[in-house]
Formats: sequence, C-alpha cells, structure tokens
Amino acid sequence: MNATAFAVEKIPLIKKGDDIARILSEQTELKEHDIVVISSTIVSKSEGRIVPMDTVKATQRAKIIAKRNDNDPRFVQAVLDESEEVLLESPFLLVRTRNGSICVNAGIDHSNVEGSDNILLLPEDPDKSARKLKESILKYTGKNVSVVITDTNGRAFRMGQTGAAIGIAGIKATRDWRGTEDLFGRVLEVKNEAVVDEIAGFANILMGEGNGGMPVVIIRGLNLYHESYGIRELFRPEKEDEIRKALKARSV
Ligand code: GDP
Ligand code: MN
Ligand code: MN
Repeated sequence: MNATAFAVEKIPLIKKGDDIARILSEQTELKEHDIVVISSTIVSKSEGRIVPMDTVKATQRAKIIAKRNDNDPRFVQAVLDESEEVLLESPFLLVRTRNGSICVNAGIDHSNVEGSDNILLLPEDPDKSARKLKESILKYTGKNVSVVITDTNGRAFRMGQTGAAIGIAGIKATRDWRGTEDLFGRVLEVKNEAVVDEIAGFANILMGEGNGGMPVVIIRGLNLYHESYGIRELFRPEKEDEIRKALKARSV
C-alpha cells in the first residue's frame, strides 16, 4: 500500500463563524476519498469555544483542587464544567468529558489561542463537527472525503504526546483483522487496529505543536473511506477497563 500526506498551506487564523470547509476547498484540491485531518484547535475556534478566564467563577471545590495542583482555580473550574467524571484529581485532572473521551484537563488548551487570558475548549461534539465538515466539503467540492479531528494527547505509561482522533466522519475508527490469517496461517484473534489514531499521529507530525500554522493535513491513497462514523468505538467500556477501575478504587 502507498499513501501520500501533505499539510495545507496558507490557512488563516481561524475565528468564530469561519467556514473551514470553504477555506480548505479554496486552498487545496481535494480528491475523492481523501482523508482530511483537522486539528481540534481550529474546529473549536470556528465554533466559538474560546472562554475568557475572567468569566469563569471558581467553586470551592475548584479552589481546593487548584491549590493542590498548583493551577488557576478558574481553569480547574472550566475543566470540571466540561467533565462527567473525574478519574484522577491530583497531581493533574484526568477526566471523562461530556463527549465520553478520557483525557487530561478535558483537552482544554492555552496554546495557539489569542489573548493571554483565554482558554479553548474542545468541540462540544467532535463527531458532529466532523460530520458537518464532511458534508460542507462535499457541498463545496463534490468530493466524498473522510474527516478526522485530532488533538494532541499524552499517553498513560509512555512519555511524550501524540495526535489522537477525537471526532470522525466517513471513516471507521478501527480496521478489524480478527478472523484473518497471519503469515503462517494462524488466525488473528484480537487485532483491531485503531486506524484513526494512527492517522492522527502521523498527521500531527506535519502539523507540529507550535507556530507552524498547519492545522490541516490531507492523506491520500489509503483505502479507508467508509460511510459510517463515530469515535465511540474507541472508548473502552467501563466494565472492561481495569486501569480505570484501579484509579477509581484509589481515589475513594
Ligand atoms: P491541537 O493539537 O489541536 O491542540 O492544536 P495545536 O495547538 O497543537 O496546533 C496544531 C497546528 O495548528 C499547529 O501547526 C498550529 O500552529 C496550527 N494552528 C493552530 N491554530 C491555528 C489557526 O487558527 N490558524 C492556522 N493557520 N493554524 C493554526
Ligand atoms: Mn489541544
Ligand atoms: Mn497539537
């Protein structure tokens, strides 16, 4: 298999209400079944998910956590407001967001956001954002593409951060190898490859984390287009999640 990938040049600073699909279709020529990888940062900006910190009122609980974690109580409050469940309170907040993904600080960012006192929340429903972007790209270009919205995440057990998929459309989250044979005829029993995270990880290399201004990467040539969508397939069911159980047991 062969694939190519490139970052889209000349994307402006994105503001609330900007039509990312239109900007993209003007900046690059998309092909049928391209995978359009978009950083959550610009999706959030276009959806107006910037919050000035001085509009957040910290509760007592946020103040206590902030003190322990050496953080701003308003930032902690914003994280709690975005969370359904707190898995770890200290030394950092590990939470399940309302969207169902488990991440540090509910994915709230300070970096690449205008204004020193502003924070940026993740898109409210990243799958829905991905679906809308896919539909708009079809409208502007006539091309059916896959959309993968990414964020840079840390990982448990390993140092360093990588791109992770947080919302998808026009692609299945996994590629299932179960039931197929290996080189020696053994049937694979557990291999279910999280392709959208692999795509996010690679695209993130081209995006970078700093001032590169490259929030969109196109990956061409992978045969992964699929009408279904949904990131939830990647969320480990609570009953099967031994690490999560161990964390919860520790915190009571
Ligand atoms: P995240 O991983 O989604 O949290 O986003 P990052 O802050 O790591 O940014 C990813 C890439 O997008 C970097 O190359 C940034 O410079 C770029 N970026 C972030 N915001 C904008 C924007 O509004 N416009 C453009 N052109 N690039 C941006
Ligand atoms: Mn981020
Ligand atoms: Mn990043």
